[in-house]
Amino acid sequence: METDVSLLKSGSQAVPGVQTPLPNYVNNTWQKSEAAELIDVINPATGEVLTQVPLSPAEEVHQAATAAADALHEWRRTPPVQRIQYLFALKNLLEENLEDIARTITLECGKTLDEATGEMRRAIENVEVACGIPTLMQGTNLEDIATGIDEFMIRQPVGVCAAIAPFNFPGMITFWFLPYAIACGNTYIVKPSEKVPITMQKVFQLLEQTGLPKGVVNLVNGGRETVDAILTHPEIRGVSFVGATATAKAIYAKAAANGKRVQCQGGAKNPLIVLPDADPQFTVNAAAESAFGCAGQRCLAASLTFTVGEARHWFTEAIADTATDRVVGNGLEEGVEMGPVITSESRSRIEGLIQAGADEGAQLLVDGRYPSVSGGENGNFIRPTVLNDLNPQGDIARTEIFGPVLGLIHVETIDDAIGIINSGRYGNMACLFTSSGASARKFRYEAEIGNIGINIGVAAPMAFFPFSGWKDSFFGDLHGQSWDAVDFFTQKKVVVERWA
Ligand code: NAD
Repeated sequence: METDVSLLKSGSQAVPGVQTPLPNYVNNTWQKSEAAELIDVINPATGEVLTQVPLSPAEEVHQAATAAADALHEWRRTPPVQRIQYLFALKNLLEENLEDIARTITLECGKTLDEATGEMRRAIENVEVACGIPTLMQGTNLEDIATGIDEFMIRQPVGVCAAIAPFNFPGMITFWFLPYAIACGNTYIVKPSEKVPITMQKVFQLLEQTGLPKGVVNLVNGGRETVDAILTHPEIRGVSFVGATATAKAIYAKAAANGKRVQCQGGAKNPLIVLPDADPQFTVNAAAESAFGCAGQRCLAASLTFTVGEARHWFTEAIADTATDRVVGNGLEEGVEMGPVITSESRSRIEGLIQAGADEGAQLLVDGRYPSVSGGENGNFIRPTVLNDLNPQGDIARTEIFGPVLGLIHVETIDDAIGIINSGRYGNMACLFTSSGASARKFRYEAEIGNIGINIGVAAPMAFFPFSGWKDSFFGDLHGQSWDAVDFFTQKKVVVERWA
């Protein structure tokens, strides 16, 4: 799409308070990037160009890493109880600016305002948890480990760390890492998704207002070259990544080869199991919200539903009705329940996967392709889609679609469903709907999946727990959020001490 840059010169028309092209934030200064390439940031609901983002070169990562390394000496010596005062300030600023940030998320990412607000609530929760660092970061000790000898473990920051974020949660995902990192005494660099970089501009404007010392937090916009520079920079000691499995795998390998501590959360293919003893209305509503909420672009979106026995009859009919009734449109409009997908390429890819599912033998019970959405002629809209009787051995039952598409697989027993689920490559989330405690226990015991829901459609761990993907949904050992984040952002030092 051609951009009328003259419209954008003095700042984005659509997103007040944001410059065009977007600057980086390095050493507490907003800096124009020298990037050779700028790309358009497009509102997925309207096709409108919101602003342009630079694909920052390696030199600008180097500037950020140097600023962060210079800041480290003072910052790690700042007592944790003082470090968290900046987070208390940030929490208040995020609350005060919640509406503006949520609106920005909707503009650039397409989800509804309610969904965007919920996303930022989750972000704020992580700031709140990280405010507990003076307790969370404590070590352990044992007096008299031998006669007259004491031993203790203390936690120290890792150094300069960086986050590389995906498009689908422009606000929340950085908060799985950043608050813990800086509260633990590290300094930080954020590389947002180039598809949705505006939200982090707003967040960094608030971080600036907290008065954090120079270089503690830095923002570098960009794409692959920027990421490569992060993965190879000698000053950067830890990397947190969230995105597609293929990218996660490559980043995990490269960061590790360069001696970095690394955690990479990847893609998913999340199943629900519906037992005949589940509450029908509740289950169908939860399944629809999971599959079609955020237009299916959640790493915890349900992509498959296994109905067991009799459940196939009531579930199939009701989910088709719910999918058909869902209100699709611009997420800024009142009453809209589902927005567009992120790009026209995504939409075409999803349309192709729907066709592939049908070609593999599924019945296109609800076909959401090529909808007419009033005012959305230039948007990337697909309506909720239901593929009935999907072949469990086919490609589509095993491919992440990342769109509002639910495949139904009908089986006779819960063991059949668990067997198929455990044979898959992903392990991000699985949920069971039932009124039987015994079935619930069996499921949570046997499912080879990191995040489990029982009568929950989107089992997203709250900030007090780690975000626990398994298998090809995660590469590393420590996840984002909570205790895992504290472990990731600290290195343990053990002291054995004897005084005569
Ligand atoms: P993506 O992998 O395309 O991009 C993620 C980030 O990596 C972006 O910042 C991008 O600039 C960068 N990147 C992309 N390709 C790269 C490459 N070849 N080399 C270096 N950097 C590269 O992911 P996306 O499309 O933005 O996000 C959607 C994916 O993220 C889905 O697969 C979804 O399941 C996954 N996701 C996972 C979780 C989780 O917690 N497991 C959470 C959210 C999203």
